[in-house]
Amino acid sequence: MLCKTGVRSKFPGPPYNASMRRNIFSFVLAILLLSFGPAAFSQSPLPTASAEDRALAREIFKQLIETNTTDTPKGSVTAGSAAMQKRFLDAGFPPEDVHLLGPDARKQNLVVRLRAAGPTSEKPVLFLCHMDVVEALPSDWHTDPFQFVEKDGYYYGRGTQDMKESDAALVATFLRLHKEGYKPRRDLILALTADEEGGKFNGAQWLVQQHRELVDAAWVINPDAGGVELDHGRAMVADVEATEKVYSDFQITATNPGGHSSRPRPDNAIYELTAAIDKLAAYTFPFEMNEVTRTYFTNLAAQEKGQTAADMRAILATPADLDAAARLSTEPSFSSNFRTTCVATRLAAGHANNALAQTAQANVNCRIFPGHSPEEIRQQLIALFADSKLTVKYVSDAYVVSDTAPERKAMVPPAPIKEVFEPLTRITQAIWPGVPVTPVMENGATDSIYFALAGIPSYGYSAIALERDDDRAHGQDERLPVDSYWKSLDFFYSFLKAEGGQ
Ligand SMILES: [Zn+2]
Repeated sequence: MLCKTGVRSKFPGPPYNASMRRNIFSFVLAILLLSFGPAAFSQSPLPTASAEDRALAREIFKQLIETNTTDTPKGSVTAGSAAMQKRFLDAGFPPEDVHLLGPDARKQNLVVRLRAAGPTSEKPVLFLCHMDVVEALPSDWHTDPFQFVEKDGYYYGRGTQDMKESDAALVATFLRLHKEGYKPRRDLILALTADEEGGKFNGAQWLVQQHRELVDAAWVINPDAGGVELDHGRAMVADVEATEKVYSDFQITATNPGGHSSRPRPDNAIYELTAAIDKLAAYTFPFEMNEVTRTYFTNLAAQEKGQTAADMRAILATPADLDAAARLSTEPSFSSNFRTTCVATRLAAGHANNALAQTAQANVNCRIFPGHSPEEIRQQLIALFADSKLTVKYVSDAYVVSDTAPERKAMVPPAPIKEVFEPLTRITQAIWPGVPVTPVMENGATDSIYFALAGIPSYGYSAIALERDDDRAHGQDERLPVDSYWKSLDFFYSFLKAEGGQ
């Protein structure tokens, strides 16, 4: 979860709220029946991990939690990656299928390949897992965040929710499949990466840009998002992140010679900036849909009532009813699902109470609908402000300000891929009977974006079940129910076999 976005969560608030989620149960079931056929509901019991498999999975989880992988002087992603590399090599994975590499000594990524039985034209499936965690201050916690503590049915420690539980479950599952002599029909790849939470050496981005051959895939499964929401133990919905908006910050600046405030000039940096911000406040970006949001609103329309349901059907029509879109836009979680949004988030101006401001500056934060580039949005802001005295600059994730923004566009997502959703739904429902599975567009950001930018569809799904009010990622006393860990282990074992075929 990229901290900077602030809204990233294993269980995103948008695109629907809790009451909607509660109602989502039956209609997604119907959608799935339509989409994937009755096979989605044949619930043969899943193979479960043996006591020995569980013991190893727990040992790996403990080892990862107790390896500090924060982006701090005490932390080293390499320590975690190298420890996992040793496990794969000791288990007999060929060295040419186990790569430890990265642009920085402390930020090495591990890429492991479980090779297909023979030559195949099918591209691999990549499992993308970040190994870094957010810093945790022992003084804020009731246990040592870098000690793996089992207490009252939970595992405690930094990374137990985000996302060493999935790192460990996938390492354990790759090892188990190898031990069992399983040969997939297509390669399965596991990438354990650096600097998702921050830092200068994002491993997912670096790998896809510098070592595409190691991570090239038909699609990516990223357990850093999605999962099963529990309400008092009852599984309510399984979210699968199927696309993401693109996060961009823009710095809007007005400058002025300034002077003594007793002699105001006709031009004024603060007024020029606030006039631009007023225009932004009054502006809404155009209505848009893609295959993921279309599925989402189709599902929701079936469950809503009255005007809201009618409006949702009206925006799904061709052409879309823009009056209906305007009515739905009063609900931010709807609006953000059918357009780019840009909003002023910070202001700074002036240097003294009795001086005319020489600089007035605002940060405008945009969440860009897939298919548009940050530069395209920057140009739209310039046209909207229509004030040549203002500058509109791009601010990168590393806070580097530049005159222009990236031209790259996030891929418009394809319709959810059946070879992902059919087994994902079947296996999820074998563990949590009847739980609806729905694709969602995330308004925050994960490392999936780097693969989406490279044209590789990415799906966020952890198979981790958490109570809605127990999201502790990045927070204090981060914890995971022990039972959730075992279930995710069983999910990944069957899911990897389904993705690998045979
Ligand atoms: Zn994360």
